[in-house]
Amino acid sequence: MELVNTIKREQSAALYEEAKQYFPGGVHSPVRAFKSVSGPPLFIKEGNGCRIIDEDDNTYIDFCCSWGPLILGHNHPSVREAVIATIKKGTSFGTPNRLGNELGKLIVDNNRFIEKIRFVSSGTEAVMSAIRLARGVTGKSKVIKFEGCYHGHVDSLLVKAGSGLATFGVSTSAGIPESFAKETLVLPLNDPKALDECLQKYHKDIACIIIEPIPANNGLLLQHQSFLECLRLKCYKYGVLLIFDEVISGFRVGFEGAAGHYNIQPDIITYGKIIGGGMPVGAYAASAEIMSHVAPEGAVYQAGTLSANPVAMSAGYAALQELLQADFYKNLEEKTTKMVKALQSFCDNQLYPVQIRQIGSIFWIAFSKEDIRAADQIDGASMDYFKILHHELLQNGVYLGPSGYEVGFVSAAHTDRDLEEAVGKIKHALRVVFPSIV
Ligand SMILES: *Cc1c(COP(=O)(O)O)cnc(C)c1O
Repeated sequence: MELVNTIKREQSAALYEEAKQYFPGGVHSPVRAFKSVSGPPLFIKEGNGCRIIDEDDNTYIDFCCSWGPLILGHNHPSVREAVIATIKKGTSFGTPNRLGNELGKLIVDNNRFIEKIRFVSSGTEAVMSAIRLARGVTGKSKVIKFEGCYHGHVDSLLVKAGSGLATFGVSTSAGIPESFAKETLVLPLNDPKALDECLQKYHKDIACIIIEPIPANNGLLLQHQSFLECLRLKCYKYGVLLIFDEVISGFRVGFEGAAGHYNIQPDIITYGKIIGGGMPVGAYAASAEIMSHVAPEGAVYQAGTLSANPVAMSAGYAALQELLQADFYKNLEEKTTKMVKALQSFCDNQLYPVQIRQIGSIFWIAFSKEDIRAADQIDGASMDYFKILHHELLQNGVYLGPSGYEVGFVSAAHTDRDLEEAVGKIKHALRVVFPSIV
């Protein structure tokens, strides 16, 4: 099917051509290049509330929300004002600062699952540091990860399952030595048997298991509570640390993230995205005992020139304070549910092979009726549908992340009216995707 562009994209197209002369692939993060959808990537110049405006002056209702951080929507006044107030006093000192204390205290005092926290500058850095900490604490070196979970571009985690029975990983990127990939074992999600077999066999070498407790980087692969509980118990049994990578789920499904949602105590939690209110912040956190292994208190080295940068700290603080307001998460979930239900009943009535998976304010449009809980259940061919959907939505003023494997985020700035408008547009786009089904 040929996708006909009816909106103006000249400015974005020209900027993309220019960008390609200076940056590999014209971008600074691969999925931004629109490789799996049509047309040049949009260059966004402004965002307000739930809407973004591109360089050609097209406006879109945004469900990407900078890939998750903007749970309050774009340009939230209290975040903006906090950043401006802080920046007037300078941008960085490389010393301890009061704003870091304030954000740390706000997080730790309102989260039953952590006692101490270390700020870094990205989710990847948080994960990389958490893995090192787990290795330092246990004195063991191997890591278990799950197929379909993304943990940033950490060398040893850009790994997929090898062939045959051996579960040792094979790297998914050039530039990762085989010896690094071999330190990682890759298991399927939602499979307690595979987990048990692997732990029985290798537990003496395994430092930690890392999981996105709410896997949201390869579709939305919701896990059963029982699987996560099993994971917790097995880790205790075999002396393996459990890392919840909450870079997406942290502060998204509740202030205490997935740990709070499932009421499961991991050993280490990583944060990113929402924690910085739209500025580059990541963090890892754990019990005081585990965190005592981090330098300068302990022997696990980890440092950062711009860590706990005051401007970023004040943005995070302003944002997280909003999340602690009464009923914040309840309201966000309710309006997301309303939108998802409206879309699902439309798809069901039309007999479209579509389901919309949801948890809290995260949703994912899957072109399948299967109960998808593991990566291998996603049919790559179904992404052709997404490509049409994405294109059609851009023509009509709705922006989804440019890949069918990406989830959507609803922010507090999306009003019921905005969501009703989006539902109308998504219905229209689905009719284009499935023209022959009546
Ligand atoms: C986004 C993400 C990361 C990486 O964070 P960056 O800030 O992009 O480095 C790690 N883990 C999960 C679960 C993520 O969603």
